[in-house]
Amino acid sequence: MIDLHTHTNKSDGTDTPRELVNKAISLGVTVLGITDHDTTAGWEEAKQSVRGQIQLALGSEISCLTDDGISVHMLGLLFDGNHHDMQTMLEETRDGRLPRMRKMVEKMRAAGIDISMDDVEAARPAGATLGRPHLADALVNKGVIKSRDEAFQGMLNNDSVFYVSHAAPTPVEAVRMIRSAGGVAVIAHPFASLRGQILDASNFQELADAGLNGIEVDHRDHNLAERQMLRVIAKELDLAVTGASDYHGNGKLNSLGEYQSAPDQWEKLESRADQRRVITA
Ligand code: AMP
Ligand code: ZN
Ligand code: FE
Ligand code: FE
Repeated sequence: MIDLHTHTNKSDGTDTPRELVNKAISLGVTVLGITDHDTTAGWEEAKQSVRGQIQLALGSEISCLTDDGISVHMLGLLFDGNHHDMQTMLEETRDGRLPRMRKMVEKMRAAGIDISMDDVEAARPAGATLGRPHLADALVNKGVIKSRDEAFQGMLNNDSVFYVSHAAPTPVEAVRMIRSAGGVAVIAHPFASLRGQILDASNFQELADAGLNGIEVDHRDHNLAERQMLRVIAKELDLAVTGASDYHGNGKLNSLGEYQSAPDQWEKLESRADQRRVITA
């Protein structure tokens, strides 16, 4: 069972890296991708938790913005965690998330909602990349809303008046950085339209030209027609097709292993990293 896209409490998931690895082992996951938003902070603990048959594909889900302002998530897997420019890129995005959160909180306060940055910080685990889910948790703690899900269907949605974006690399820049750090790039849930505006089928060529290796096709935020379109694009551009859970612990309904990648597609990806970087016990 191969699940290449999951989150821990080093971003907006709720399991520690150790808990996630243990759950994956219990479930029979053979290759686990750990892809916290804009950080590699969970890698060390995850490595120390490896035992038995599981293999880790350490990575990060990089927040990107196109020149047209479309939000894109790029999974980088198997890159060199000590690559200086990659770490700088991730750090710049994390830094930008703080003023962005202040602005969102300010907008809410101006609308009479009882929420503060202290509330948000109290909801963020130590060392976690700050994100809207922590604001959602703070709003739940305050009794403003009932769940993260409710938040994302309303006040925290990309279309909401409270939404503020943050600075981020373009998808092409992220792909180039992942590849120059020796890793492989897989675009995450590209047709997840409920989250906001999405890429057009014609945008994939330039990503492939930049070095994109794969497309996440089997994901709960894609319907069957969207998956079919993505499979056609992947075939045309000779890209690997992946499936993954995007597990977030209790933070989302997604369950670990609910979508998976085929072994041949994983091999296709792994063979394109600049060296063997899979972690084994
Ligand atoms: P941000 O990175 O701060 O813009 O927040 C976006 C993150 O919120 C995404 O990466 C998702 O993992 C998470 N998210 C989106 N929709 C939901 C939802 N319905 N419930 C929980 N988390 C969500
Ligand atoms: Zn997330
Ligand atoms: Fe994502
Ligand atoms: Fe994700």
